[in-house]
Amino acid sequence: MRAEESARRVSAVRSRLTELDLDALAVTAPENTRYLSGFTGTLGYLVITGEREDILGDSRYWLQMEEEAPGFTLVQSVASSGLLVLLADRLKELGLRRVGFESQHLTVDQHRRLAATHPAEVELVATAGLVEELRLLKTPHEVELLRQVAGIASRAFDRVRSGVRPGLRERDVAFLLEQTFRELGADGPAFDTIVAAGEHGALPHGRASDRVLAHGDMVVVDFGALAGGYNSDTTRTIVVGEPTPEQARVIDAVRQAQKESMALMRPGVTADAVDRRAREVLAGEANAFGHGLGHGIGLAVHERPFLSASDQTPLQAGMVITNEPGIYRPGWGGVRLEEMVLVTEAGPQVLTPASHEVRVG
Ligand code: ZN
Ligand code: ZN
Repeated sequence: MRAEESARRVSAVRSRLTELDLDALAVTAPENTRYLSGFTGTLGYLVITGEREDILGDSRYWLQMEEEAPGFTLVQSVASSGLLVLLADRLKELGLRRVGFESQHLTVDQHRRLAATHPAEVELVATAGLVEELRLLKTPHEVELLRQVAGIASRAFDRVRSGVRPGLRERDVAFLLEQTFRELGADGPAFDTIVAAGEHGALPHGRASDRVLAHGDMVVVDFGALAGGYNSDTTRTIVVGEPTPEQARVIDAVRQAQKESMALMRPGVTADAVDRRAREVLAGEANAFGHGLGHGIGLAVHERPFLSASDQTPLQAGMVITNEPGIYRPGWGGVRLEEMVLVTEAGPQVLTPASHEVRVG
C-alpha cells in the first residue's frame, strides 16, 4: 500500500476519534491493522492518537513492520511480556485518557487483562465497526485487487470444471481448484472450498467430503482465492450429465432471483431491499433460502454491508458485495449462484466471470 493511502486512512480514523471524543484508538483486528498501516503479518496492534501512529509488535515482525508500515512508529515488545502488556504500557506512557478498543475483536479475556493493568488512568471505550466503516467503500486500487483475485478464481474454476466427471470425489474437485488458484498466481484459497454433491448440496456450508460424484448429481461449488490480502467468493451449481427438468427449473428460479435483485444493486438502494427482492422472486421457495443474500468482501471474506433484512445500509458506488441466492431442499440437494458485484453509478458490475454452463462431464 502506498504511504499516502495509509496516511489518508489514518486521518479518516482521526476524524472519527474527534467525533467520538476519544484520545486514541487501539486497533487489534488483523484486517484493520493491515488496512490502516499496510502491515501484512498476523499479529500487530496499532495505537492511533490525534498526533501519532504506533505499531506494536514482537521481534518476529520488526523488520516486516518497518518495511511495510513506514509511516508508523515501531514499538518493540520485549520477549518476556506479551503484546497486550505492551499495549497497556503504551497507553499509559502516552498519557491517554479515553481509548477506544475494537469491541468486535478484543476478547473478554484480553479486555479484562488490559483493564487490570491500569485501573485508574485509562478509560477503555467500546467502539464497533469504526475502521470497518471506512472499509465499506473500496478505492480504485482495492477494486483492481478484487477484480484480479476474482479473475484468478474464475479462470481456475473454468479449467477444473471441464475435468469434472463421475468417479471424482468432492474433495478431489476442491483440491484441484485450490491447486489451480496457486498455479494462476493466488496465495491460496480464501476459505475451505465447498463442493457439495447431491443431497450434500442442501447444506449451505457443507465441506468437500469423500462422496464420489455420480452421473446426475447436482453439485454446488463455492470457491474463493486470496491474493494481495484480498478475497474472492463465487458459487456455481453444475450437473454431472444432463440436468433433470426439476434441476433445470430450480437453477433457473435462483438465476432469476439473482438477476432481479442484482438489478437493484445501485447507489441509494438499501441492503435489506435487495435481499427482499430476491425473496419475492423466489416466492414459494423463499423458505428454502435460509441465509442472507450477500455480504461485502475485501480484506475479509465476510464484511459489511450485509444484504439481509437487518442491514439498512444504503449502497454506494465503490462497494463490492456478493449476491448469492439459493434454494436448499433436505434429501434432494441445493442450488446456489454467487457473484461479486461492484456497485457503480452506472449500475452493478459483475467481477466474477466464471462459466455459467450447468452441464459437465
Ligand atoms: Zn461463497
Ligand atoms: Zn459468499
